[in-house]
Amino acid sequence: MAVDIIVCIKQVLNPEHFSKISLDPVTKTINREGIPVITNPWDKNALEEGLRIRERFSGKVVVLSMGPPQTRKSLEEALAMGADEAFLLCDRAFAAADTLATAYTLARGVQKIGHFDLVLCGNETVDSGTGQVGPQLAQFLGITCITSVKEISFEEERKLIVKRGLERGHMKVKVELPALLAVGQEINKPRLITAFGIMQAAETDIAVWGCEDIGAELDSIGVKGSPTRIVETFQHRPKRKGKIMTGSPEEMVKKTIEKLREMGGLI
Ligand SMILES: Cc1cc2nc3c(=O)[nH]c(=O)nc-3n(C[C@H](O)[C@H](O)[C@H](O)COP(=O)(O)OP(=O)(O)OC[C@H]3O[C@@H](n4cnc5c(N)ncnc54)[C@H](O)[C@@H]3O)c2cc1C
Repeated sequence: MAVDIIVCIKQVLNPEHFSKISLDPVTKTINREGIPVITNPWDKNALEEGLRIRERFSGKVVVLSMGPPQTRKSLEEALAMGADEAFLLCDRAFAAADTLATAYTLARGVQKIGHFDLVLCGNETVDSGTGQVGPQLAQFLGITCITSVKEISFEEERKLIVKRGLERGHMKVKVELPALLAVGQEINKPRLITAFGIMQAAETDIAVWGCEDIGAELDSIGVKGSPTRIVETFQHRPKRKGKIMTGSPEEMVKKTIEKLREMGGLI
């Protein structure tokens, strides 16, 4: 049995540099200039899972991303990890998309790629982090969607048993392919990139598709296709004063207790 897999990966702002992020007071958007980017960590888990399924059953692992030209770097990284093909959806008309327009654009990309059995996404991203794109994409594709996936096993050909996380435990669900699974970070540990992988990636072309290539409706992409409007943004500025205690651990605990008593926080 061969399983053809499409993995959606998003390039995100590196969380280690979030403190440098500022908001444009006029456009109310994030000033992204100069902030380093990485591949969304959950998406690397999704890719790792795709590669493991391919190793077991054969088939193809294709990576797909919508983003500006620099997103190519994340796709190159995915190819170096072992993906077979990579597609970048890149067009000025896609810019400033909300999650619905993003999911629509990705769905058009998936349909243009053609045959697939399984779509894998991250459960959420580290920057916008809505967790909406996976379920919306499944809806556009008309396939089953399972989120918070912690484990995937094959019961029989085209029938999976998926363990999904709940607040206090987990549940197991049976799902038939085709399906979209949004995976959590506990599912696996993504493999490291090898020198051979980098060499192979360098030989693989990354196809870049614009609005016309995927036959996207102009009213459904970018700002026009985004029903969400940002009406206000604000930066969190802590109002509370911090106090740093010094001394040995015992002294610091004593001082903290005294201070809390003084302030009426402890009786
Ligand atoms: C009104 C509005 C305006 C916005 N304007 C902008 C803007 O100008 N510029 C901007 O960069 N962002 C903008 N955003 C954020 C943008 O909508 C999100 O970055 C994008 O839709 C993905 O949402 P998310 O990060 O919450 O994804 P989630 O739903 O948390 O992602 C889940 C999974 O979906 C997949 N996925 C998500 N996005 C992509 C992608 N692009 N390509 C491939 N796979 C993907 C990944 O597998 C990911 O792990 C805007 C959002 C809103 C609401």
